[in-house]
Amino acid sequence: MIRVENLYKIFRAEEVETTAVNAVSLHIRPGEFVAIMGPSGCGKSTLLNVLGLLDSPTSGQYFLDGTEVGHLKESKRVEFRKGKIGFVFQSFNLIEEMDVFENVELPLVYMNIKPPERKRRVEETLQKLNLTHRANHFPNQLSGGQQQRVAIARAIVTHPLLILADEPTGNLDSQNRQDVMKRLLALNQEGITIVMVTHSRNDASFAQRVINLFDGRIVTDIKNYL
Ligand code: ADP
Ligand code: MG
Repeated sequence: MIRVENLYKIFRAEEVETTAVNAVSLHIRPGEFVAIMGPSGCGKSTLLNVLGLLDSPTSGQYFLDGTEVGHLKESKRVEFRKGKIGFVFQSFNLIEEMDVFENVELPLVYMNIKPPERKRRVEETLQKLNLTHRANHFPNQLSGGQQQRVAIARAIVTHPLLILADEPTGNLDSQNRQDVMKRLLALNQEGITIVMVTHSRNDASFAQRVINLFDGRIVTDIKNYL
C-alpha cells in the first residue's frame, strides 16, 4: 500500500532550514491501522501531508499502491489522490455554506460521478455514520462530534484506499473522542487502511502499530499489544 524509502522534507524559509522529515523509510500493508505519535513539531503533519500527496518530499521515494508518486507535478498529484485518499483533520474542514449532504457529496462531484450514483453513495455513507437525519443540517447546527462524523463520511464516500487522519479527536470531548475512534476502528475492520497522527495514548491504543517520531526521524515502530 505505502512504501517510503529514505524520505526527506526540508523547509527553507529565510536563513532557516528545517528538516521536518528526516530519512524516513516505512512500509504499510493494506488493511493496517497505524498511529503516528511524537512531540509537537517533530514532523507528524508534514509526513502525513506527503503521504496524502498534499505536499511533495524534498527527496526520497514514495510508492503508493505500486506507483511512484513522490515527485509528481502538483496537477498530477491532485489527480492521483482524487478518490483514493480520504482526509480527516482536527478542524473538521467542512464547508459552512453547504449542508451535510452536500459536504459529503463534494468529492464525488470532483470525480464527475453522475447525480443518481452520487445520491446513492451519499445516502449509504450517511447511514453508516448515523447521519441520515442530519442530511439537511448545516455544520454550525452540529456538535463537534457530529461534524467530525460528517468529515469521516466525506473521507469514505469515494471508497478510498486509505484514510489519513491528523489529530482527528483533537477538538472533541472525551465521549465524542471515543465515538470517533470506534468509528475509525470499525472502518479499519471493514478493510480500509488508516494512518492517524495523534497526541493521545488512548487514540493510539485503537491502532495495531504505533510509530514514534522525534526530530523528523522514526525512533520506534512497534506492534500494539494493548
Ligand atoms: P507536528 O505535526 O509533529 O507538530 P509539523 O509537521 O507541523 O510537526 O512540523 C515539523 C517542523 O517543520 C516544525 O519545525 C515546523 O515548524 C516546520 N514546518 C512545518 N511546515 C512548514 C512550512 N510550511 N514552512 C516552514 N517550516 C515548516
Ligand atoms: Mg501536526
